Amino acid sequence: MEIFPPWDGVEDLDRYRMRMRHHEKQQRIERLKRTKMAQAVDQDGNPLYKISSGGNLRRARKIPARVREFVLERDQHACTECGASDFLELHHIVRYIDGGPDTPANLQTLCTTCHGKKGGMACESGRSSPSSGDQRTSAT
Ligand SMILES: [Zn+2]
Repeated sequence: MEIFPPWDGVEDLDRYRMRMRHHEKQQRIERLKRTKMAQAVDQDGNPLYKISSGGNLRRARKIPARVREFVLERDQHACTECGASDFLELHHIVRYIDGGPDTPANLQTLCTTCHGKKGGMACESGRSSPSSGDQRTSAT
């Protein structure tokens, strides 16, 4: 990896820091592009993940809101492993990257802890509070 040159003591420090952050972001994006996830495509050749302008990998396809509501309702808004009702996420039983569809049969409500144990990375949030917004997300 390319090393960013140290501050020369002349350039405006804020400007230097800005350039450095930009450089780091570019490096992160370059690294991400080479990952298996970033290169994964569905049957139609569409990428499964996209890289956001902030340099995070995001799912290109989202679980439709109606499906998410249905699965949460079905699982009674609780983790199907431990029963927790906070920090819920939807887990793809057949992994998203392996072509697992966003269907109720392939989705399961899990809390972040149990999801992590299953090797799921932070996934499409199934949180009932509207606070989840634009967090960094990727998927299982
Ligand atoms: Zn759990």
